[in-house]
Amino acid sequence: MFFNQNDDENKSGEGNLIFPMLPLRDVVIFPHMMVPLFVGRSKSIQALEEAMKRNKDIFLVAQKQAKVNEPRAEDVFDVGTVGSIVQILKLPDGTIRVLVEGKYRGRVLNVLSDEPFFEVDVEILEDPASDAVELNALKRSVHSAFETYLDYAKKIPKDILKSISAIENASQLADTIVLSLNLKLRERQELLEIVDPRARLEKLYEVIQREIEILQVERRIKSRIKKQMERNQKDYFLNEQGGAPMGGKDSEQDEFKNELKELEEAIATKGLSEEARTKAEKELKKLRMMSPMSAEATVVRNYIDWMVGIPWTETSEEVNDIEVAHQVLEEDHYGLKKPKERILEYLAVKTLVGELKGPILCFVGPPGVGKTSLAKSIARATGRELVRLSLGGVRDEAEIRGHRRTYIGALPGKLIQSMKKAGTINPVFLLDEIDKLSSDYRGDPSSALLEALDPEQNHTFNDHYLDVDYNLSKVLFLTTANYLNNIPHALRDRMEIINLAGYTEDEKLNIAKGFLFPKQKETNGLKDIEVTLSDGAILKIIRNYTREAGVRNLEREIATVLRKVAVRVLKEKTTNTPIRIASGSLQKLLGVPKFRREEADKRDQVGISNGLAWTETGGEILQIEVSIVTGKGKLTLTGKLGEVMRESAQAALSWVRAHADILGLESDFFQNFDIHVHVPEGATPKDGPSAGTAITTAIVSAITENPALHDFAMTGEITLHGRVLQIGGLKEKLLAAHREGIRNVLVPKTNELDLSEIPKEIMKDLKVELMENVENVLDRALKNQWRRPKADYAADHARPPLS
Ligand code: ADP
Repeated sequence: MFFNQNDDENKSGEGNLIFPMLPLRDVVIFPHMMVPLFVGRSKSIQALEEAMKRNKDIFLVAQKQAKVNEPRAEDVFDVGTVGSIVQILKLPDGTIRVLVEGKYRGRVLNVLSDEPFFEVDVEILEDPASDAVELNALKRSVHSAFETYLDYAKKIPKDILKSISAIENASQLADTIVLSLNLKLRERQELLEIVDPRARLEKLYEVIQREIEILQVERRIKSRIKKQMERNQKDYFLNEQGGAPMGGKDSEQDEFKNELKELEEAIATKGLSEEARTKAEKELKKLRMMSPMSAEATVVRNYIDWMVGIPWTETSEEVNDIEVAHQVLEEDHYGLKKPKERILEYLAVKTLVGELKGPILCFVGPPGVGKTSLAKSIARATGRELVRLSLGGVRDEAEIRGHRRTYIGALPGKLIQSMKKAGTINPVFLLDEIDKLSSDYRGDPSSALLEALDPEQNHTFNDHYLDVDYNLSKVLFLTTANYLNNIPHALRDRMEIINLAGYTEDEKLNIAKGFLFPKQKETNGLKDIEVTLSDGAILKIIRNYTREAGVRNLEREIATVLRKVAVRVLKEKTTNTPIRIASGSLQKLLGVPKFRREEADKRDQVGISNGLAWTETGGEILQIEVSIVTGKGKLTLTGKLGEVMRESAQAALSWVRAHADILGLESDFFQNFDIHVHVPEGATPKDGPSAGTAITTAIVSAITENPALHDFAMTGEITLHGRVLQIGGLKEKLLAAHREGIRNVLVPKTNELDLSEIPKEIMKDLKVELMENVENVLDRALKNQWRRPKADYAADHARPPLS
């Protein structure tokens, strides 16, 4: 337990405490750390005095910049350590020497006062539970890395290792090691802010490895300089004496000889292609002539290392059994009937043909729909290794194909680097986010990819760095994308597209029950504990804590719930008591629901219609708002609308103007009023032509003060003459409408054929109507008759319109 239950004066909200705060310059204090501090600033002295009056606890937090003399609340970090004052000593000059001991991490929630000292409301950050096995493994790696570090860092006494070995608790181990490393304030703070011990150990491991590397380089440079100096002295001595050489370079030469031998052996045994071997041998010959310490030698050595480091013959034994593949896909995924079928067909053809000619599979869909997960399954089902390469933001051909060796620091491209990681010549190679490739003056990465993916060419893939042909023809390439249209054309031609539109609520529930929950239970170390999450609770998470086409956030929220459960189990030591989580307890675990349909959205309102948008994260409801204000017929568009959407608003307005008569508008209406179209909902840019019908509906609704029905959503591009044109992403859009509980959807008639692709359980709840023109849409979406005689409208407008 972290705080003293009787300590009422310190308590604020649940689990939060109130403390005086002590801002610190240039030091980050960790739990379990005992430090003397010298305090001179009057605010700080008063904070200490106040803490002494209470129960000696004080919140210790680092200033972002040491030089700030009178820090304000925003000048200190949010996360610090609650510490206890162990000893306090007033010095004759009025300053204070204080010994504090860090107790636990905390985050400032509120600054309650800043005069005469800072007083803050602190949320205690407890360590989440982690998988014990993984944690142990991590502890071991960090421990041994730290041992190596100590070998290099001569200044730190080795005794420290003994005390560190005695620490069982992972969190304490991480914090204690941090103290011995020579890190900058920012990095220490960063480590303090990582609450999860597993993540902290991982980061720490990285930091230690980096420090070791720095120390190694330092040592190498020192010894090289020393040797050079010795050599110079020796030469000088020899010259002076005119005598015979005295020997002494021997050990260095021996080492170099050994290295050459190793490289020679590797070249001979690693099964390099004829061309590669000849080239590597030539380079080795050059290396022999070089001075081992020279920069050129390093370049040549690196090159040979790469040549022998990538796989040339190593192969995973492939499983070509369709039954097994079927089983694995079923084991790993719920639903996805069509994608699974297509994958099996693909594997079957591949088995029959015996090689990987033909198109590359490309999984297209929003995040979290299982694209990566399917690729993993394919690797597992076929017995291959899996490597992933994210193409997001790759814009330079050299990133794919490598830099020529004339560059200092040149490396092979990402494809070859990934092959090295795979370690075999026949992995499943997942090229992620192929739609995020871009090209600029540095060349087009897609052409390099095209060569890699083309079975006619890829047995001689040429990386600029290696500069020999490398055979990629045994690799099973898969790709993923969020948005089909962004895939470069030439690449798209090579692909067989498998669409994953998103899941229905029912599918999500089943995925959560059968896959995400069991997986997260294990990850969070609760495998042997009976924990159940009721269907009601899962549905509530789906509806009120996530808004997505896939299940990524759903998985994340379930993980959060389980982490909290793990903490409870550990605190209360209740490993034998079954734990049931029902929807009622979610708010306590996950906080207030993030998504609720506003009450206002459930009323028919003037000037507000529901459009359906297709975004990279799946379908979404787009509310379109229109208001009419006094003006001169100007159209104002706001809400981060893209070019195409702006044009479609123009077209909508033109249609309305052309039909002013039927709408019963006065002939001078548009000379007196401006129209403002706004699409709220965050800062997400919105574009596409398919909001045409929804914008028209909202404009007509606003102009004629005829409410639009709230239970309708619509999608469809419109022409100037009011025809409704076909749109894309129908399935995603219908899923979104369904998710939001809307029952009527108006879609273009030309999309009729697409309806057969929509899951039955969705169609059961939705009334989908096919629209040929704008008039059809208005007939359905507006509450009252919209064709009105002029007089009618004039009467309505006896009062001034909205402004
Ligand atoms: P993507 O690559 O499409 O962004 P992921 O493959 O990373 O999505 O999926 C996110 C998570 O959801 C993973 O843990 C994955 O195993 C799980 N998941 C997605 N779809 C399914 C499904 N149909 N059945 C079981 N688990 C699924």
